[in-house]
Amino acid sequence: MKNFATKTEFKPGTVWLAGAGPGDPGLLTLHTLHALDSADVIVFDALVSDPILDLAPEHTPREFAGKRGGKPSYKQVDISLRIIQLARQGKRVLRLKGGDPFVFGRGGEEAAALVSAGIPFRIIPGITAGIGGLAYAGIPLTHRDTNQAVTLVTGHDATGKVSRIDWKAISDGSPVIVIYMAMKHIEKIVQELRRAGRQANEPMAFVCNASMPNQTVLETTLGTCLADIKTSNIKPPSIVVVGDVVNLREGLDWLGAEEGRVLINNIDTGTIDKKTG
Ligand code: SAH
Repeated sequence: MKNFATKTEFKPGTVWLAGAGPGDPGLLTLHTLHALDSADVIVFDALVSDPILDLAPEHTPREFAGKRGGKPSYKQVDISLRIIQLARQGKRVLRLKGGDPFVFGRGGEEAAALVSAGIPFRIIPGITAGIGGLAYAGIPLTHRDTNQAVTLVTGHDATGKVSRIDWKAISDGSPVIVIYMAMKHIEKIVQELRRAGRQANEPMAFVCNASMPNQTVLETTLGTCLADIKTSNIKPPSIVVVGDVVNLREGLDWLGAEEGRVLINNIDTGTIDKKTG
């Protein structure tokens, strides 16, 4: 492979606020890989997987800034102050977050803190769990036969309470709903969606530890998911999807196919069959 010729210099005294993707190191961007290699210090979140941190040289200091639902978290302000402090010491600071830093990752807050401190920084997008994580379960976010819109929501707000979003509007307007941080309030979320008119037999999937070796997928429905969660080993981190795209998994579970499961043949192959370009 040719060298990554356009690689951008990671300058001392700057912060790279980077997304690590859902877990599989193969889903890192080249920029993040370069940053792992050249950082003076890595400040990482709980959702950044060990195989990704292992890509950094052994001697690179790592600081855990654990932010994980339901467990004690470092205060956001402390994390921001710490990365500012490290940058002011002239270090190349890699601030590594799970998924994408700007998708339910509080990357905007950290970036704003860097702006007000006058620290130069770069944002490196990552593959978000709600897209890449579902892809690892063989669930496309959109398919032209099922949905022309999709909504990404968080299951709880900054205070930890169930999100005060307009579930009725989302339910009416979005055939596919992807829910981050759903597990804590899953009963309430299911209740809200049912009350908003989504049917009990509507397909739903939970993808737990998406893209990691211990990935598990629960295919269920809005009506049966609460009972199914109890009898399954689904726990956070899980990404939840509601909508007909879940049915496509039966044919598109490529990871299952790699492990020997047979894919079905009756899915719409779209442009290949119809030659509509
Ligand atoms: N910035 C992250 C999201 C952080 S919020 C991103 O873009 O993906 C944390 C939530 O993300 C978790 O509660 C879970 O819903 C989801 N999540 C992140 N990584 C995941 C993974 N590997 N498998 C399943 N869900 C994941």
